[in-house]
Amino acid sequence: MGKKAVQERYLELKKLLNKYSYEYHAIDNPTVSDAVYDGLMAELKAIEDKQPDLIDFDSPTQRVGDQPLDKFEKFEHTKRMISLLDCFSDVEVELWLSRIEKIDKSVNNASFWVDSKKDGLACALHYQDGRLVRAVTRGDGSTGEVVTSNVKTIRTVPLSLPKEHPFSKGFTEVRGEIIMTRKDFEKLNAKRESEGLSTYMNPRNLSAGTIRQLDSKLVADRPLRFHGYDLLRDNIEEVVTNQFAYSTMKDLGFYVDKEAHLEEGITSVLKYAKEFETIKDELPYNTDGLVIKINDRKLFDSLGTVGKNPRGAIAYKYPAEEATTTVKDIVISIGRTGAATPVAVFDPVLVAGTKVRHASLHNADEIERKDIRIGDTVVIYKAGDIIPQVQKVILELRPDKTKRFHYETELKRQYPELNFYRPEGEAVYRVKGVSGKILLTKGLEHFASKGALDIEGLGEKNVEALVGSGLVSDFADIYTLTKEQIESLDRFADLSANNLVKAIADKKHPMLSRFIFALGIRHVGAQTAIDLANNFKKLDNLGTATYEELKHVEGVGEIVAESILGWFVDDDNQALLAKFRRLGVWPKVVKTVGGKLSGQSFVVTGSLESMNRDEAASRIRELGGTFQNSVAKGTTYLVMGTKAGSSKAEKAKKLGTEVINETKLLNLIS
Ligand code: NAD
Repeated sequence: MGKKAVQERYLELKKLLNKYSYEYHAIDNPTVSDAVYDGLMAELKAIEDKQPDLIDFDSPTQRVGDQPLDKFEKFEHTKRMISLLDCFSDVEVELWLSRIEKIDKSVNNASFWVDSKKDGLACALHYQDGRLVRAVTRGDGSTGEVVTSNVKTIRTVPLSLPKEHPFSKGFTEVRGEIIMTRKDFEKLNAKRESEGLSTYMNPRNLSAGTIRQLDSKLVADRPLRFHGYDLLRDNIEEVVTNQFAYSTMKDLGFYVDKEAHLEEGITSVLKYAKEFETIKDELPYNTDGLVIKINDRKLFDSLGTVGKNPRGAIAYKYPAEEATTTVKDIVISIGRTGAATPVAVFDPVLVAGTKVRHASLHNADEIERKDIRIGDTVVIYKAGDIIPQVQKVILELRPDKTKRFHYETELKRQYPELNFYRPEGEAVYRVKGVSGKILLTKGLEHFASKGALDIEGLGEKNVEALVGSGLVSDFADIYTLTKEQIESLDRFADLSANNLVKAIADKKHPMLSRFIFALGIRHVGAQTAIDLANNFKKLDNLGTATYEELKHVEGVGEIVAESILGWFVDDDNQALLAKFRRLGVWPKVVKTVGGKLSGQSFVVTGSLESMNRDEAASRIRELGGTFQNSVAKGTTYLVMGTKAGSSKAEKAKKLGTEVINETKLLNLIS
């Protein structure tokens, strides 16, 4: 993206995130999930990291929550109520630590206070000489709304502190989260439903909406709870650690979560984070992760803040089942049965812990219904083992001048040599005039051909017989054939069946380039297959390559890249690869960077005695050389076979290409 485009995207993201933030924090009525908000926020942060000059004062990265509403009296917080940096993996936590270790080495030996991150509404309770005098929402972090009378209705908020406790003298502030348990939330919703009233979206919004009601009687009816997570005194030295803060809150009569505890080092914190992932959904309230804080308050305070976040704490969040990304392309893949399936190709994104690069758009109707276009920002959904799906387009982020995806035009562009039709009542387009069997026969012939896996005995007629008999229904099936099965077909005698089984077994670990070529990916010829193999080294790498990575490979343009992506995203093809792997059939990893002929190019004219042209080409390519059809500027060798004409030799002379005979070629490729 150019600088101007990045700036435009930045402004659009900022506007949209501020709208979401207002809906969520100010009016307790979110219109998107937290995962969608977090995904777009991560994109905004990445832009700001790269181009800090773009950061505006009203960027959501600079602000906590949203403006307090006018209906309440406002109060300036004694100390800013801040937000937390989100970390989504162990690596991000380690990066956070190494950043703060650079500021203060003693972080090295720090211990950490760990607690659940409750998903509710943050609130500060002010006690003067042991009496609750004020309750203030977080608001924008600097100023909140005074909601004292409402908070006083919450049973877990002490109205006074125990007289004998030293913190009942002077000013004490307890910060915590106002929440509702899932059970209470469900009960309340069920009651509303039975009364024919609308139900609430989630416990967080209900809690936040309740606290910001003007009628305290209504608040008293709702089962809200207060869970403490911070304790402040005028003299900061009175609260030395977070551990102390929690035990003191308990002594003062506050509820603190049982999960909160001390961990000695980051390794054990991360170990606990794994455990917590399995227990978090059993807790009675909603959490969206863990809060990890440096236990020592002096060290915590001295580390200071960066933007709206304290350096000494983070929120460890678990992979969400939704994410946002952009559609880079829509490719069409032709499956084994000739069905053409559209597939969206994305900027890779983590969803539910797996990297998602593409998702099937199923058929023409689906694309039309969701109106998915190239360049769109979309919400991806993936739960458990289900295949990632595009949930919807975020229309506010659609770039100008996007074109609707026109299925038939795209079929013609991506597969000019094929004809398609759409059977009555079906949403899927299919290749015209070719049945699954014909496609398989042609494909298998190519798979076994000289330039591909070079399996002797698997020529046109034998392939037809094997496919026709039903013994082979995909490429991988040939590796399961037994001598007896082959013999049962008319064409084969004992010896030839034996030879065929052996010839197939010999090609269980072919060269990667030959295997790629053999798969018959449209537009991937022998030379492109070699370039791809040299570039990606392993088949898995090719299968997970992004559109950009593919386009970096010599000779791979838009259409070829689309075709490769289309092949690998097809479910049938994925099943075929899995079957190959199960049968122990897998191409070798490419070890050398370029072979002994790398950088050299060859043209062969006339016929060779020891091999045919295809074999010569394969051998040259395998050794890293390039095989060309005609002499051009820069061609290294022209190989003169028998019965060669003179025109190529003349051209070679003119362009300074060395002319060699077959013996010299054999020396070079031996
Ligand atoms: P944050 O992630 O920055 O975390 C800070 C807050 O965590 C504190 O203010 C406190 O309220 C809470 N917290 C809970 N348990 C805690 C504990 N044990 N110790 C310390 N703090 C604890 O939260 P944020 O600034 O309120 O906002 C970001 C969150 O809001 C994100 O999860 C985001 O997805 C969500 N959000 C959603 C939308 C939407 O439209 N869906 C919009 C804006 C924000």
